[in-house]
Amino acid sequence: MAYHYDDSNIFAKILRGEIPNDTVAENDHALAFRDISPKAPTHVLVIPKGKYVSFDDFSANASDAEIAGFMRLCAQVAASEGVSLDGGNGFRAITNAGSDGVQEVPHFHLHILGGRNMGPMLL
Ligand code: C5P
Repeated sequence: MAYHYDDSNIFAKILRGEIPNDTVAENDHALAFRDISPKAPTHVLVIPKGKYVSFDDFSANASDAEIAGFMRLCAQVAASEGVSLDGGNGFRAITNAGSDGVQEVPHFHLHILGGRNMGPMLL
């Protein structure tokens, strides 16, 4: 079954340049920007430039180059934010999917959170 991508979602508008964002880094396949409502000293969202609704859509349907580009940008952000295990104290990377995952914006994104102890996982 095909995933339905809504072109009017707010991250699609950011990618089209219709809404400003606080860009941290980007490459050919992904964009990283600061969350507008940060939950930690570092709270960066990494999104693919392609139209994918969720983690499962991206994992199933993105090209290997898109997946590699996305993952490399995540690692680059962790390093530039000083939260990578290569010199920093670590971070949490999470993604919400769909209604049970309480996903607010229906364009796949990974939250990179760090700069403080994130505490136990919420269940
Ligand atoms: O994973 P979820 O979809 O719930 O997260 C969406 C995130 O997008 C929220 O953390 C929210 O603060 C962020 N956001 C943003 N800029 C916007 C709209 C939402 O950073 N313009």
